[in-house]
Amino acid sequence: LDAIEAARSPFASHQWKAAPLIAGKANPNTPERVENPADPADTPGTVAWASKADIETALAAAAPWTARASERATILNRVADLYEENHGEIFAILHREAGKSIPDAVAELREAADFLRYYAANAPEADPVGIFTCISPWNFPLAIFTGQIAAALAAGNAVLSKPAEQTPLIAHFAITLMHRAGVPQTALQLLPGAGDVGAALTSDARVGGVAFTGSTDTALKIRSAMVKNLAPGAPLIAETGGMNAMIVDSTALPEQAVQAIVESAFQSAGQRCSALRCLYVQEDIAPHFTEMLTGAMDALSVGNPWLLSTDCGPVIDEEARVGIAAHIQTARAEGRLLHELKTPNAGTYIAPTLIRVNGIGDLEREIFGPVLHIASFKSGDLDRVIHAINATGYGLTFGLMTRIDDRVQHVTEAVHAGNIYVNRNQIGAIVGSQPFGGEGMSGTGPKAGGPHYLIRFTARTAPRKGE
Ligand code: ADP
Repeated sequence: LDAIEAARSPFASHQWKAAPLIAGKANPNTPERVENPADPADTPGTVAWASKADIETALAAAAPWTARASERATILNRVADLYEENHGEIFAILHREAGKSIPDAVAELREAADFLRYYAANAPEADPVGIFTCISPWNFPLAIFTGQIAAALAAGNAVLSKPAEQTPLIAHFAITLMHRAGVPQTALQLLPGAGDVGAALTSDARVGGVAFTGSTDTALKIRSAMVKNLAPGAPLIAETGGMNAMIVDSTALPEQAVQAIVESAFQSAGQRCSALRCLYVQEDIAPHFTEMLTGAMDALSVGNPWLLSTDCGPVIDEEARVGIAAHIQTARAEGRLLHELKTPNAGTYIAPTLIRVNGIGDLEREIFGPVLHIASFKSGDLDRVIHAINATGYGLTFGLMTRIDDRVQHVTEAVHAGNIYVNRNQIGAIVGSQPFGGEGMSGTGPKAGGPHYLIRFTARTAPRKGE
């Protein structure tokens, strides 16, 4: 504990006075307070949100990055080096602003650096779309943010970046490092703010394309704004929500399955797009399996994400907490709450929770937190389960636990999902070799970190879907 406190203390008093970097100028707008989800008394920093005038200034100043591909690659590789050199500061910001644990912060930094180096290695000679708007979410506020920007810059575009309103500080710090590495100010500008800033940056005719990760609803709004206002065929690369399921049949190894489920559903407080939301367990093993699962849940520790002993930290903010708590309350009122852990008093926590459902169709929306839904199925009903999973219209991740080889082939071919995991946890992707991305309402493709991603950031005609 002393070592952790010592590691933390240099940052504890560090107040980030982040202001938008718009063509190099500081912004005089009233600063907004950034919150720490684990500690209501902490203010990780303040940030001034971009005004309409700032957006206009940024659009007028934006100029594609005309340097040769090799020079852009050198600079993007330097950004990755700077991220690594500044890991202490990056971990501290991710912890205080986004409630990240140390392992999550480490994984996030690694993924961000991987994106930078992969796109640098594949940077095409200049054929940019022009101005690319990159809109990123709070759940991977460094990795997804960096991946979008690195791809757009590798292709020679001018980037206007709008990070999530909850996580502007890590965005500000990362953009500072990008500029320090040599990315021109006019090729990369940060416009912090809420949805209205994102809306302005996706409905201006000067914008050539949009990369977006967030909810499916917002992606649909962006698409209609683009169709109305941007040039025909302007690319939208969207990664959106999921209704991720896992099937556990009676041949699965129970200990292995329980461990994978707990990790997939509750790590990062269930705030990964890939997280497991609905578990189907074969009926004959269901009672015993549920008992094992609730036992494993009881062993989880909920609390300060900075402690290495913590398994489940806070959800991102009070609005998220209230929404998830209401969902749990409905389940409680209907007698479907199977298991719930105790929640810490301060901070925006939701403890790991297990809710009974008849199937994934019972979920009206994606619950973005540590809440797992469980259903059982009869052995003859496997195809009905697959049909229900596909009928959600989403298709991000899917997990299967079985020891029947033929079943692996049948089920993985029948389920529509961008990333499928067999007999392991439903987590992760590897930039370059196992890229991440969904189908249907979960995203437009191509997959981030895959071989076809970069081409969508260029003016070349490219396929809209798939790998
Ligand atoms: P989440 O549920 O993850 O917060 P959102 O889709 O609301 O998902 O947010 C993802 C990103 O999209 C954030 O940066 C947010 O500010 C931005 N955003 C929200 N509304 C709009 C909009 N109408 N147009 C463009 N961007 C938006």
